[in-house]
This record gives sequence, structure tokens and C-alpha cells, in this order.
Amino acid sequence: MIGGVSAPLNPAPLTVWIADGCTRCHWCQHLLPTVFVDTPEGSRVRSEARRDGGTCTNATARSPLKEGHLDADSLAFLTFVADGCPVRVINVER
Ligand code: SF4
Repeated sequence: MIGGVSAPLNPAPLTVWIADGCTRCHWCQHLLPTVFVDTPEGSRVRSEARRDGGTCTNATARSPLKEGHLDADSLAFLTFVADGCPVRVINVER
């Protein structure tokens, strides 16, 4: 329990998707290469990280991350990486 609120036993998995406008600055791929991959069309959420095994922006599929793909530290770091995108196109949702 944190701050009087119990954490759910099985929180919904995180979903990462990338909106239009990536400038290919490589920030996300350098910091979390297990989630992001560079392509000529811009950054994509890589297949190994996704439940559906696809590699694309994940803007339409909204496939959650695979359970166990990232450890707790990397999951926390994901928000930092998303917030650091200079054009704010990385979305992290539950
Ligand atoms: S941090 Fe943002 S702009 Fe940079 S490569 Fe990743 S998605 Fe594209």
C-alpha cells in the first residue's frame, strides 16, 4: 500500500504507441532499444516487445507490451523516455 491506496494485484499491461511526427532523433532507440527500433519511416515499437509480435507505430493495433519483456526499472524508465521525446509523440498507456 502506498499513500493509503492499494496497488492492484494484476495491473493492466502497458501499451506504447507512437503518433505521427517522429523526427528520428534516436533518443528512444538509444535509451530503450528493447522497445524502440529505428526505421526509415521513423521510430517503431519493436515486435519482441509486443504481444501481437508486430513492428509498427502501434497507433492502430495498440498491442500491449509482453509480460516480462521489461523489468520493473525499465518499465519506470519508459515514462522518462516518452517524456523526453522532443516532439512528444510517444504515448504510454494502461
Ligand atoms: S524520441 Fe520521439 S522523435 Fe526521437 S526517435 Fe523517438 S519517437 Fe522519434
